[in-house]
Amino acid sequence: MTNKNISIAIDGPVGAGKGTLAITLAKKLNALYVYTGAMYRELALACLREKTDIKDEEKVFEVLNKISIEFKPTNEGIKAFLNGEDVADEIFKPYVGKAVSVVAAFPKVRKEMVLRQRKIAEDAIKNGKNVVMEGRDISTDVIPNADLKIYLTADINIRAQRRFKQLEERGIKTSFDEVLKDIQERDRQDIQRNVSPLKIAENAIVIDTTDDRIEQTMEKVEKAMEKLREENLI
Ligand code: C5P
Repeated sequence: MTNKNISIAIDGPVGAGKGTLAITLAKKLNALYVYTGAMYRELALACLREKTDIKDEEKVFEVLNKISIEFKPTNEGIKAFLNGEDVADEIFKPYVGKAVSVVAAFPKVRKEMVLRQRKIAEDAIKNGKNVVMEGRDISTDVIPNADLKIYLTADINIRAQRRFKQLEERGIKTSFDEVLKDIQERDRQDIQRNVSPLKIAENAIVIDTTDDRIEQTMEKVEKAMEKLREENLI
């Protein structure tokens, strides 16, 4: 076994279970957990608040360059700060969810976000921390040399049920049909965009979580890590 720090990249569509897996793995590995979706959600929220035309790449990019985006995982969940204000509840509301894939599709926005996320991963590794990062392009663009690349997926109805439950738990009122439609639209936008679309990276392990509980998904990931250890890769 080597003593180097481990980086794990997790990608997949909405509701595939990335967050649950990433948080569980981060706890186990005492790793920095990075939820990149929060950064795109905060940008979308900032644009909506400023009444920026979210279809105008230049205007959206201007907003990105003047706001401060921060997030921290805590025991009570994600804390996200936009210009110092706690927006953790706001960014999960459906009106933000609808705008986020639009701003996330712009090449200029992606280039800047990828640079920032790559730096977060590099700094953590330099400071002797393991990293678990989740999003849509982590294993393809942000840390393509991650030690372990995971692509999570699941049946769309199950994904919609999970997301519906999460929104209910956050006290956000919506209907299952609205959530399903929203997910279909976001999947379409994330998969079809020109720059770093959601796709399975080379060498990624693919896990379908449709029938899995987190324990079962963790078992599969641990098996993959065991194999890497046997090969002295981690
Ligand atoms: O992960 P979450 O569903 O919160 O992400 C919200 C949206 O942000 C995604 O649907 C996608 O459009 C965008 N995103 C992205 N690249 C990432 C993370 C999120 O394009 N690495």
